[in-house]
Amino acid sequence: MSQVFDQYHTDKVPLSVAAKIKFMNHVNDEHQDELALFVEAFADTKLSNEMAVVVAEVYSDGLLLEASVQNVEILPNHKAEALPDAVSQFFIEFENVIDETITLKSQYINLLQVASKKLGKQAIKQQERYFTVIDGYYASPNMFRLVVAAPVDTPLNHAGYAYLFEVNADVSVSHESTNASANASEKLQRYYTLRKVWQDAETQQIQGWVDTYIHGDTPGGNWARAVQAGTQLKSVRDYPEKIAHLNEGQCLLICDETSMPTVANLLENWQNPIAPIVIVMTNDGAELSYLQEIELSQTLAEINSFKQDNIVHILNTPSIDLPDAIVSAIDTRLEDGSILIEKVWGALSAADAKILRRQLKTKFDLSRQDMVMKVYWRTS
Ligand SMILES: Cc1cc2nc3c(=O)[nH]c(=O)nc-3n(C[C@H](O)[C@H](O)[C@H](O)COP(=O)(O)OP(=O)(O)OC[C@H]3O[C@@H](n4cnc5c(N)ncnc54)[C@H](O)[C@@H]3O)c2cc1C
Repeated sequence: MSQVFDQYHTDKVPLSVAAKIKFMNHVNDEHQDELALFVEAFADTKLSNEMAVVVAEVYSDGLLLEASVQNVEILPNHKAEALPDAVSQFFIEFENVIDETITLKSQYINLLQVASKKLGKQAIKQQERYFTVIDGYYASPNMFRLVVAAPVDTPLNHAGYAYLFEVNADVSVSHESTNASANASEKLQRYYTLRKVWQDAETQQIQGWVDTYIHGDTPGGNWARAVQAGTQLKSVRDYPEKIAHLNEGQCLLICDETSMPTVANLLENWQNPIAPIVIVMTNDGAELSYLQEIELSQTLAEINSFKQDNIVHILNTPSIDLPDAIVSAIDTRLEDGSILIEKVWGALSAADAKILRRQLKTKFDLSRQDMVMKVYWRTS
């Protein structure tokens, strides 16, 4: 599926689809870890921590990736002779050639699935899933909780397992009669995490919570509040959050309202003997109750005043510089110098995640695997 490019010259014609630049910017900004995964899986090359990998070009039959030592600026339209020594190129072949019926997105997701499987990691699954609403109520001032009946094979213990829900689908239509491809481009989709999953003792049914942050008149929040008991919710993709690195070492978790469900689930199931430090930002101070009221795992419950000492709250206001506030909250918590952060998991807005990913990776000298800073929402 891959071949190593010894030189830049190629007779391939770059793809000219309009969405290509947006795709490249998005992947290069937010998914470099996945590109490193492709190089490892398809070119049998494990990139060192100092190497950054980007999509340099997209062709109808694959991606041209360039890996270089971080901070080496690669100029646009560069020629082979101008490439710094540190640049390696890899051509990663798609399963199918992109045309009017095969999309770039589908081929990228396919690469992700094949690479993850090859390396024994969990990956996105493109599959329809149906959930039935049982109840709905506010779990904290702005977090609206849907209690749902979930498919029987829903993972019970994977914190951060999320689904891409269709939030404007005609929920009254039965799924057998729904034509999946019809109006696909008009479907509004939003990711939501399964906050908690359990098997109901009486009915044996798998049930769960989907917690949605309500922030004004938005499609996701409106969808969650509008559905009724009995409504069927449709998801088109499963997304397993990357949390395996948190099993050992001193961890730092960073969340806002959208990622509190994942952090709550992590803390309820925490087995790592070292307690994590949690930085939580909310727009409403009262929202902290969402994390303060959870039942901690036995490991954390045995630690004196974990919630008081290790959950650090930042009240977000329009005048605050969030990345700065987060870094100074971390510095204050680590003041006595006895704690060394070894792993990070966080999920925030695109702008803040981009700044923090770089800053914290350098600050704590973290490897690509140990620094997971995801984008959960973006300003439009
Ligand atoms: C893997 C994954 C799991 C997620 N899990 C959850 C979850 O469990 N619960 C949850 O609530 N969200 C979760 N999110 C985030 C959720 O998918 C997005 O916040 C979603 O875009 C919200 O949609 P919306 O329709 O409310 O607002 P959008 O239509 O995305 O945005 C409308 C407006 O609101 C602004 N906006 C969007 N989000 C926020 C915000 N958080 N704070 C302030 N302004 C905002 C935008 O800038 C825009 O102006 C998850 C995201 C991912 C990628």
